[in-house]
Amino acid sequence: MPKIDLISPAASERRIWLRVGTLLDGVSTAPLRDANVVYDSKSILFVGKDLPPADLLNPGQTEPNHELLQYTLLPGLTDAHTHFFLEGGELDPDNRSTYLKQTPAQLLDHARQRLEKLVRLGIMAARDAGDKDGVGLALSKLCSGNSRPLMPYVDSPGAAIHMRGRYGSFMAEPFEDCFSAQQCVEERVRAGADRIKLIPTGIINFKKGAVTAAPQMSAERIGEFVAAAKTFGKQTLAHASGDAGIDHVIDGGVDSIEHGFFVRDDQLARMRDREIAWVPTFAPVQCQVDHADRMGWDSEIVGNLKKILEQHAKSLVKAHAMGVQVIAGADAGSYGVAHGLGLLYELELMQRAGLSPLAVINSATGAGSKRLAFKGKFGQIKPGFLSRFILTHYSPLEDVANLRKERMVVFDGTVFATGGDVDASGL
Ligand SMILES: [Zn+2]
Repeated sequence: MPKIDLISPAASERRIWLRVGTLLDGVSTAPLRDANVVYDSKSILFVGKDLPPADLLNPGQTEPNHELLQYTLLPGLTDAHTHFFLEGGELDPDNRSTYLKQTPAQLLDHARQRLEKLVRLGIMAARDAGDKDGVGLALSKLCSGNSRPLMPYVDSPGAAIHMRGRYGSFMAEPFEDCFSAQQCVEERVRAGADRIKLIPTGIINFKKGAVTAAPQMSAERIGEFVAAAKTFGKQTLAHASGDAGIDHVIDGGVDSIEHGFFVRDDQLARMRDREIAWVPTFAPVQCQVDHADRMGWDSEIVGNLKKILEQHAKSLVKAHAMGVQVIAGADAGSYGVAHGLGLLYELELMQRAGLSPLAVINSATGAGSKRLAFKGKFGQIKPGFLSRFILTHYSPLEDVANLRKERMVVFDGTVFATGGDVDASGL
């Protein structure tokens, strides 16, 4: 493997000018070739084919610090659906249940140990999708506090909201504990929630190959939560699979639909029209196929799972063609879906489903930064955005799996080299 010559670190008083062969800005539908990028440790200052203006460079600078014409530069990746309180890479079911018996402080400690690894993998942001142990909220606080360690941006909804006795009790508190949707939302916002997570449906019944339980929440109830969240300026993300439940969350007006298995084409059209984003999370279902023996799934169940994934792939391609805002999320923490590595797998699965590599990369960078109201500016290569990006000489436009190979990660100007040999323990 060729040895990477590390680029120089940037500082607040030391700007770096790179000339790169290919630049993916996170939103454009075509790459920019032979592009110039100037940044300091805080933010990107210039992007374009033209020479950067002298006042954006170091005094007297007339040449780039580095010519990287064989390299592609792209924004650091965002995982829009993770559960930091879970360890996804652990495949032994007994170990998984023992893991969950730990105290919230212990779960938080494990989650903290993942943070630097994620940065080194090129994951610069994660939207936690809920836990009731306060792990996501603690990380969100850590991220916005003064003594932030080396970590991706993290935000969290805290405890999700579900209906008592229905799916989701491991990460949600029941609506019935509250007087009203407004009070339920207010409690979470007071606890520090950055957004509101709803669980309006159950999950796929793998044996039947369908979502067999009726939705937990009516469209009216969901609408009450959405309206309450808006009074606090918060977005709403909704776990929803099965077309009946998907109808409810569309009618309720959530900001994003998570999973969305069995979504119909007419629902995709309504999602596009209402600007409801879709986070399709292929990885947790694909991992049930990959580890079918260990899960005890017979050939009939594996057949069901494969059929579901094929249908999901078709919907993804249609959604993208129709203009639905597709955002990548791995559901990291689910069985077999390791933090960080799970997102790289999710991107490969989206590519395998039929999206172009560039569409996949945009779904994991600019799409989230435009739609999900993050509190930080990342996910795009554009002046004013944070200096957080990936440089690789293995073109991800040929295959997004190249993002697993040797690469440089620039994080607020600091440079990390990552080989293809990541220590996956604890992820
Ligand atoms: Zn999830």
